Amino acid sequence: MAKIENKATSALEQSQPVWEYADAPESTEIVRLEDRYGLFVGGEFVDPKSGRWFETINPANEEVLAEVAEAGAEDVDLAVRAARSASGTGWRDLPGSERAKYLYRIARQLQERAREFAVLETMNGGKPIKESRDIDIPLAAAHFFYYAGWADKLEYAFPNRIPRPVGVAGQVIPWNFPLLMAAWKLAPALATGNTVVLKPAETTPLTALLLAQVIQEAELPPGVVNIVTGAGQTGAALVEHADVDKIAFTGSTEVGKLIRRSTAGTGKRLTLELGGKAANIVFDDAPLDQAIEGVINGIFFNQGHVCCAGSRLLVQEPVFEPLLDKLKDRLQTLRVGDPLDKNTDIGAINSRAQLSRIEELVAAGVDEGAEIYQPECVLPERGFWFRPTLFTNVSQSHRIAREEIFGPVLSILTFRTPAEAVEKANNTPYGLSAGIWTEKGSRILWMAERMKAGVVWANTFNRFDPASPFGGYKESGFGREGGLHGLEPYLELEPNGGA
Ligand code: NDP
Repeated sequence: MAKIENKATSALEQSQPVWEYADAPESTEIVRLEDRYGLFVGGEFVDPKSGRWFETINPANEEVLAEVAEAGAEDVDLAVRAARSASGTGWRDLPGSERAKYLYRIARQLQERAREFAVLETMNGGKPIKESRDIDIPLAAAHFFYYAGWADKLEYAFPNRIPRPVGVAGQVIPWNFPLLMAAWKLAPALATGNTVVLKPAETTPLTALLLAQVIQEAELPPGVVNIVTGAGQTGAALVEHADVDKIAFTGSTEVGKLIRRSTAGTGKRLTLELGGKAANIVFDDAPLDQAIEGVINGIFFNQGHVCCAGSRLLVQEPVFEPLLDKLKDRLQTLRVGDPLDKNTDIGAINSRAQLSRIEELVAAGVDEGAEIYQPECVLPERGFWFRPTLFTNVSQSHRIAREEIFGPVLSILTFRTPAEAVEKANNTPYGLSAGIWTEKGSRILWMAERMKAGVVWANTFNRFDPASPFGGYKESGFGREGGLHGLEPYLELEPNGGA
């Protein structure tokens, strides 16, 4: 892979010595890739009845990593049957303390094999190794630990109710946090006694398939978890299957709407975690250096492939210029390139399709009259890359201020009063998250009350914890994942007659 050099000369560089980083590549030897991965159905890896396979690549160099089975309707049907049969043969009636043991086993295995999972996640998805190592994998393990703790306490979680599993859950997940999204979906479903058919995203199936191996080793009863790989059609076959009781989906608002239409009137339970266009709001009394780090993390974490990314920066007018100067300086220091290098801040864009979408929206920003700023870093020749990008002179009607770009692109707007900040922040069809930077606690509370966002961070951004519920308003979807709230979508809560 070509070495990246940041060639820009900023005010920062002129006044300070330039430090060069040595290469710090993480070895890939720990990962043992197979040539082909079958579907995980009934506790076994099986060839697809469809007879179709697709290649999965490393987006940082476009090399093929493996072939993966593409599940057709018949394969999805077999997986749902396996899940139904496992539900009927004991999983749902197992004491919670017994179910918890399996979840703890999975969590411990994720910890033990954390490096392998992190390297594979980075190879298949393009995210920096420091993020997969320090965030994705530890949080995935934490989710299994957390929900293992609830498995034998459901009666206490929902007093005066008899909690019963919904049955078979169909779960469709995206490519931005492949293992973590699998953990968000699987852990609460299993803790509550459901069985599952999971469909990973087409571009990032490999850590879910490694998780299937862990599930085998944990001796989870066959059929409790089934994993069907494939593209959108596989997801649609799962969503439309008549014997699925509940659908949990994370992905685009567009597909979320399709799923809502196709499940309407079927009696299937549904939770949707969809897109976002979060406002990160910096007031003039905010500690600017701290806010800069929050803004950088808010939009450049995971290349901006984050549903709750702080993609609209709202800055109070008096601090607009100093903040912009600092932000540009900070952008010069971001290292874009080999995701397996431990010093890399911004890795590869997940797919060619996503890169095209980012390029199209950025071109629209320029055409509509916004002012673009990008540091001059040299990008590798192969793979999918996009420079960290800022837009100023953004008006609220611009596409870059309205549409989810899902890339490392920040649109900066200004405001004068807190009321104007609220008005602008809420002026979006989405409502997933928001950030507030100010030193006044009373202002944080005043703002938080008025933000139409499922999560509001104050003087921080992108903080996740399995104990904390996460989910959206408006076109960002409905239902909550995480915390006690995350148990509810997987339970029938019958009134306890004796209460
Ligand atoms: P999708 O919503 O298409 O993908 C999410 C998941 O749904 C994937 O597993 C996908 O399969 C599957 N899927 C696709 N079509 C259907 C269908 N008709 N029925 C059931 N499942 C389906 O997102 P994209 O990958 O196309 O990304 C497009 C945009 O969506 C991004 O640019 C971003 O703005 C947004 N997005 C938001 C996410 C979030 O977390 N809120 C996550 C991902 C994307 P497959 O992988 O084969 O497409």
